[in-house]
Amino acid sequence: MTQTLVKNFVNGQVVDSTSDRRQKVFNPATGEVTAEVVLSNRADVDAAVAAAKAAFPKWAQTPPIRRARLMNRLLALLNQNADKLAHAITQEHGKVLSDARGEVQRGIDIVEFACGIPQLLKGDYSDQASSNIDNWTFRQPLGVVAGITPFNFPTMVPAWMYPVALATGNTFILKPSPTDPTPTIMVAELIKEAGFPDGVFNVVHGDKESVDALLEHPDVHAISFVGSTPIANYVYETGARHGKRVQALGGAKNHLVVMPDADIEKAVDALMGAAYGSAGERCMAISVAVLVGNAADRVMPLLTERVRELRVGSGLDESSEMGPIVTEAAKARIRKAIDTGVEEGATLVVDGRDFKAPGFEDGFFLGGTLFDNVTPEMTIYKDEIFGPVLAVVRVNSFQEAVTLINENAFGNGVACYTESGHVAREFGRSVDVGMVGINVPLPVPMAWHGFGGWKKSLFGDMHAYGEEGVRFYTKQKSIMQRWLANIEAGAEFSMPVAK
Ligand code: NAD
Repeated sequence: MTQTLVKNFVNGQVVDSTSDRRQKVFNPATGEVTAEVVLSNRADVDAAVAAAKAAFPKWAQTPPIRRARLMNRLLALLNQNADKLAHAITQEHGKVLSDARGEVQRGIDIVEFACGIPQLLKGDYSDQASSNIDNWTFRQPLGVVAGITPFNFPTMVPAWMYPVALATGNTFILKPSPTDPTPTIMVAELIKEAGFPDGVFNVVHGDKESVDALLEHPDVHAISFVGSTPIANYVYETGARHGKRVQALGGAKNHLVVMPDADIEKAVDALMGAAYGSAGERCMAISVAVLVGNAADRVMPLLTERVRELRVGSGLDESSEMGPIVTEAAKARIRKAIDTGVEEGATLVVDGRDFKAPGFEDGFFLGGTLFDNVTPEMTIYKDEIFGPVLAVVRVNSFQEAVTLINENAFGNGVACYTESGHVAREFGRSVDVGMVGINVPLPVPMAWHGFGGWKKSLFGDMHAYGEEGVRFYTKQKSIMQRWLANIEAGAEFSMPVAK
């Protein structure tokens, strides 16, 4: 059977690549190959950069209100096509359809935020900063910028980048994950249909070769990266060495603390959704439950029962709570992590390693897995597993919970379940984590607040989207101005001061 070949999108068109390297794209629920995606070479990246560079001057000069109008048209088209996009995500990623719909919506939120770009780009103005001199600051786009994105949110994570990058007047190259590349091409077609000029938004599929070509290209001025920590670190260092502005968001190990005073049923609901939703393949997934004092006695029986009853199946089946793992390789890696947990002495309470989904025996499924008595020295505590595996750590006090979290290498998301305002306030102020939820298990900030972790979860200074995103994709310029009638004759040799 001839497979569909997913190609690059450059200068407003789907284009052929000169590379003969390909990667198979699977439907993880059935295990079938559904397409192949091109793995681009440097010549492909050069072509995309050339198109983006040529489109930049006119796009940068386009008044923000006109860029916002195009963004508004894109907003309408994304809303019209949201369900189609969600199906494409479920087909290649495996997550359940309701979750895919949520992902699409969270991306649309950022397009909606970017529709307000005229207000966001308004500068500051000081009238009479000195006698007869005015001083103002405003922000200008960087030029050609690139985004490199992971498999787990094929439409939402790119939408952390391109709406703000384009609205601020940059031209953009997206290098999505080759694991689930089709939704990004659908988005590219919608961007064209909305009326964005050719070359303003481009997609280059690929792996390390195309990433390196972007990192080293002299005409690419900024890189936004989202993916695992080792690659984020590499992208940050390599991009910075090549003179680029880089924000590189990495992996995570997110804790959910259950205090003894918490509503235990609601805390268990939260753990279930946040640990096993999207098969744990979310950078904000909860992978560690920190049970404080006697909370453990009440949480564990209920949690164990719920993990055993987790409904795992095809993402297209409305009754499934969790879909398959994205690839066979990821499934093998997660199984190995579970083996290591057992070897290192954690108590395996629910074992999902041999789970088979009825009717989908060739799919890449694992069942929900639950470990108790996990300690901070264990590999399953330290390493990101990125699968449906929840590790329970028991602690004696609130302070012990905070110390545990603060000593962890990652700092992406965290949550605390409590009924105490005092505990909640202390928690929010004292954890070294970028995004905190109080009785909110997945505190993914809204489009206008910006997303970013601390420690090994983010390399760079600025968070994604929101006002930090606007700053990331623009540089500030300050202008001081006076007019001839107010300039006194004669050179001034001293440092000018306000007069
Ligand atoms: P990944 O690091 O394997 O891939 C991310 C991107 O880097 C992809 O585009 C990939 O093609 C590219 N890449 C892979 N290997 C590379 C290499 N050697 N050199 C250069 N580029 C390379 O990540 P993934 O498996 O696609 O996604 C899961 C990871 O992403 C998890 O670690 C998860 O925590 C993280 N993630 C983080 C956030 C966040 O906001 N912090 C959000 C989503 C996902």
